Amino acid sequence: MRMLQMLVLPLIISSLVTGMAALDRKASGKMGMRAVVYYMTTTIIAVVIGIIMVIIIHPGKGTKENMHREGKVIQVTAADAFLDLIRNMFPPNLVEACFKQFKTNYEKRSIKVPAASNETLLGAVINNVSDAMETLSKITEEMIPVPGSVNGVNALGLVVFSMCFGFVIGNMKEQGQALKDFFDSLNEAIMRLVAVIMWYAPLGILFLIAGKIVEMEDMGVIGGQLAMYTVTVIIGLLIHAVIVLPLLYFLVTRKNPWVFIGGLLQALITALGTSSSSATLPITFKCLEENNGVDKRVTRFVLPVGATINMDGTALYEALAAIFIAQVNNFDLNFGQIITISITATAASIGAAGIPQAGLVTMVIVLTSVGLPTDDITLIIAVDWFLDRLRTTTNVLGDSLGAGIVEHLSRHELKNHDVETGNSVIEE
Ligand code: ASP
Repeated sequence: MRMLQMLVLPLIISSLVTGMAALDRKASGKMGMRAVVYYMTTTIIAVVIGIIMVIIIHPGKGTKENMHREGKVIQVTAADAFLDLIRNMFPPNLVEACFKQFKTNYEKRSIKVPAASNETLLGAVINNVSDAMETLSKITEEMIPVPGSVNGVNALGLVVFSMCFGFVIGNMKEQGQALKDFFDSLNEAIMRLVAVIMWYAPLGILFLIAGKIVEMEDMGVIGGQLAMYTVTVIIGLLIHAVIVLPLLYFLVTRKNPWVFIGGLLQALITALGTSSSSATLPITFKCLEENNGVDKRVTRFVLPVGATINMDGTALYEALAAIFIAQVNNFDLNFGQIITISITATAASIGAAGIPQAGLVTMVIVLTSVGLPTDDITLIIAVDWFLDRLRTTTNVLGDSLGAGIVEHLSRHELKNHDVETGNSVIEE
């Protein structure tokens, strides 16, 4: 996992710069628009599926008293979340963006986990997961600070910068050639390193998963509501990953989505093993380019952006989990509040880093936007290690099918540009 993470930063920068530089202004604009439309559409569909599933199955059953529990509620507004997202898109210091986390409005406000008592609903479950709570305070400290960050790197800021930089180089003609060659060869070198790591990846992933299975014995009994909640999330993610996304791919490209997904198997297994879409990114690149023959100009352009902002699984999960917590608290949500949850879940998924359990932390944004107690994140933490893997796999699948769809829609522009760049030719 460390080896993969090591490559993420140079991979994001070199692939975006070369990806943008290889496209002319018109092609990159169109491709960018298509990618954004795809990201927004699929994220919104995911959120809607999550909401429908949790309302139909209704896994949480609460009593009135639950809302009156003691506990500190963090004041993070939806506006805070959006503004931080935009701030982080434009890092004032590029070097710092690569090495240091950015400050946000709510950095210092940590989640206080209340002592679990057996009288509160699901109290028994909370008592079983004190270990998990420790993890929560740890990830809270580490991850709340930066929407869009990966391992302390402001990925969102670097994505924006690399895209602008590549765009400018692309327009500089022969003056920009030296830089273009430099980033091209950097990208090639990184991809060769990825190829080496891929030989080792199956063994690493085997141990990551085996280690987790051994730990499972300590998890204790999961309460009935939590079990229902887990099932609800699984059904929601399955509907999105197995029905909606493949169907969308088929409708747009008229090609067999399962052949495409078959080529992605190693990336999907890596996502399952690492719970991190950024750590999976190098493998996703390889699978798409080598197994599925997706044009490099598309993958370089679409994948780094997708891994940073397009997280269908996370969006579905956050909306579903917030409503589950409302149900547990017997908190009746009106239509306006459900819309608020949809919007903040979308924002939270854009802001969530592609690292393990990031979605659990950005849940704070969703919960506070409708006045739900953030302490109740502890109710779902026991099963998050598992659900995180599934939503990460959904995230990677969404990014990859998106690359396939964008390539198909952009085939004419890519073809016109082929001779100049010497890239692989796309079939009609
Ligand atoms: N682990 C997820 C990912 O890397 C993010 C999340 O926690 O939802 O895609």
